[in-house]
Amino acid sequence: VGPQHADILAELNAEQRAAAAHGLADADARALLVIAGAGTGKTSALAHRVVNLILHGADPQRILLLTFSRRAAQEMAWRAGQVLSRALGLQGGEPPALPWAGTFHGIGARLLRDYAPRIGLAENFSIHDRGDAEDLMGMVRHARGLSATAARFPLKGTCLGIYSRVVNSGAPLAEVLARAYPWCAQWEEELNGLFTGYVQAKQDQQALDYDDLLLYWAEMLGDPGLAAELGGRFDHVLVDEYQDTNALQAGILLAMKPDGKGLTVVGDDAQAIYSFRAATVRNILDFPQRFATPARVITLSRNYRSSQPILEASNAVIAQAAERFKKDLWTDRHSSLKPQLVAVSDEAGQARWVADRVLERREEGLRLMAQAVLFRTSSHSAALELELARRNIPFVKFGGLKFLEAGHIKDALAVLRWAQNPRSRVAGFRVAQLLPGVGPATAARLMDTLADAADPVSAIAGFVPAQGDIEAWRGFAQLYAALASGKAGWPAELELVTRWIAPHLERLYEDARVRQGDLQQLSRLAGAYGSRERFLTELTLDPPDATSAHAGPPMRDEDYLILSTIHSAKGQEWKAVYVLNAVDGCIPCDISTGASEEIEEERRLLYVAMTRARDFLHVMVPQRFYVTQQTGMGDRHVYGGRTRFIPDSLLDKFDLLPRPEPLEPIRPKGEKPAPAMDVAARIRARWR
Ligand code: ATP
Ligand code: MG
Repeated sequence: VGPQHADILAELNAEQRAAAAHGLADADARALLVIAGAGTGKTSALAHRVVNLILHGADPQRILLLTFSRRAAQEMAWRAGQVLSRALGLQGGEPPALPWAGTFHGIGARLLRDYAPRIGLAENFSIHDRGDAEDLMGMVRHARGLSATAARFPLKGTCLGIYSRVVNSGAPLAEVLARAYPWCAQWEEELNGLFTGYVQAKQDQQALDYDDLLLYWAEMLGDPGLAAELGGRFDHVLVDEYQDTNALQAGILLAMKPDGKGLTVVGDDAQAIYSFRAATVRNILDFPQRFATPARVITLSRNYRSSQPILEASNAVIAQAAERFKKDLWTDRHSSLKPQLVAVSDEAGQARWVADRVLERREEGLRLMAQAVLFRTSSHSAALELELARRNIPFVKFGGLKFLEAGHIKDALAVLRWAQNPRSRVAGFRVAQLLPGVGPATAARLMDTLADAADPVSAIAGFVPAQGDIEAWRGFAQLYAALASGKAGWPAELELVTRWIAPHLERLYEDARVRQGDLQQLSRLAGAYGSRERFLTELTLDPPDATSAHAGPPMRDEDYLILSTIHSAKGQEWKAVYVLNAVDGCIPCDISTGASEEIEEERRLLYVAMTRARDFLHVMVPQRFYVTQQTGMGDRHVYGGRTRFIPDSLLDKFDLLPRPEPLEPIRPKGEKPAPAMDVAARIRARWR
């Protein structure tokens, strides 16, 4: 370990240094928990710890780093690379190869591919994204006659939500229904049957949904031999954003590192915002006591991110939380700029105000990328997106509709998936219906034929679609045979698919030209992945985000504004942050049905949003914002007022901008507005 490295550790504060060095010098074998507020350098400490481990001889191949998104994993590997090359006195910051950095789901997928033969799983299993999973749930629901039930049975998306919650929380169905889906409780028996059918269908088709990636991994660890083997594969397991893990994920970690040795988790209970995905803050609160030798706990209290007025306002918001670990954060980043609470007329006014300010800041030298607009729900940026497009301000949206969710991209990928796994009904069903004259009935008949076929290629070639276009079918059968043989190689086979699909897009979509462009974009992406399997897995698990100009991901050197849901903004920071729609009915999102624990989660959500800001924070409050309120007499629309999380008592933490643009006065029809200026009278007056 060179002298440079000592300098680098000196950049950390004492607590961070302790976290980075835990277990090295004193052979302390305990697990480590770093629990601390926003912006206190948890993620930084974790990156330094990775570097420190490597510098002390840890094999990067044997470090498992689990993050909340693939983007976060790449970012962390990049940060670690910077530190590592400085420590070693290298030029340029090549990231260290951290082959096992990723999300729980991504890592799960890779481990399952490795272990498939040993746990009775087909090696070529498909991974269903949320849309595929819903489709399959819909098929089973239909097959079981539940869609035709007179009284309304929950929709396929709701069914999948319930199923997922049961899997991730480990709680019984009845309990999940009572707690989170009371209006579906009457269907418990049918739902139970539906889920049995759904699980069977997935297994018949050798398909895994997102939840299965965790579930199979967890089940596999139930075998003591496999658990020891998997746990032994990694000397160090490190997890960021631990407050948002669920019971299944906690179980996986415990099974891999039962004595806690080599296990490090970091997080902030005040930022727990994923309980709707069965995450439980108990994971982090109970972590120290889950081991025979309780974990070492390190807390950090100095905030390096935000200016003092921003930190003060955020602290004040979270201080009102009913239940929390008290943390006193401080910073020495003094500033006279308080965060602004900005009253605007409505969503259009909000969009104009934000766009104006974004451009102003750019004039002052703040790149677009240093600014972000955050919102509760993806649809809430619609007005802003229009405004940005009108003014040619480029942006990228995180957490919204993904590139791969567009119908035509799914079509092309389904062809590849089907070639990968002929039993995938979801893929086959979709692809067959791209052909002229093939409808659901024919597609279903084809899939039945394939289910029993020993050789799928000849079964497809020999299939005669009753009303279908035989020529078109032959063309497809040829493509299928080519893909199944794997002769073309990757990414050439994607070219085959795009060429085959082009005329079908012309027929199926009005804007076929734009969609062709997206497919070219997809081809450009493809080269970066070594194989078809890798491409499908990675894109399914972490699809690129949609952008303004085109559907694909932007180039590295472009400058663009970030639009993001608050959920997707976790762990990140920007110089300037704009929080949209800070009104009751939006944050918190449902003002009448929210149980108190849900309201608390919404408060933490606002806290997460505010603590993303370094220097400038604008909290927007449209004066006219319709929210739907469920009342005893059905839905009705009401105006939302300023969010309850910023009550009058906290107004002194903000600069108030009480200059809403004037609302259009509401006049009875026919009545002329009074003239603002009587020009004729003024001209007459000159001659008086
Ligand atoms: P969050 O809770 O939002 O995930 P965090 O606790 O993970 O935040 P980081 O993202 O690691 O915090 O750090 C916040 C900011 O503080 C970053 O810009 C980081 O570079 C900076 N920082 C962290 N530690 C130090 C330090 N010791 N000295 C100076 N700056 C630091
Ligand atoms: Mg972090």
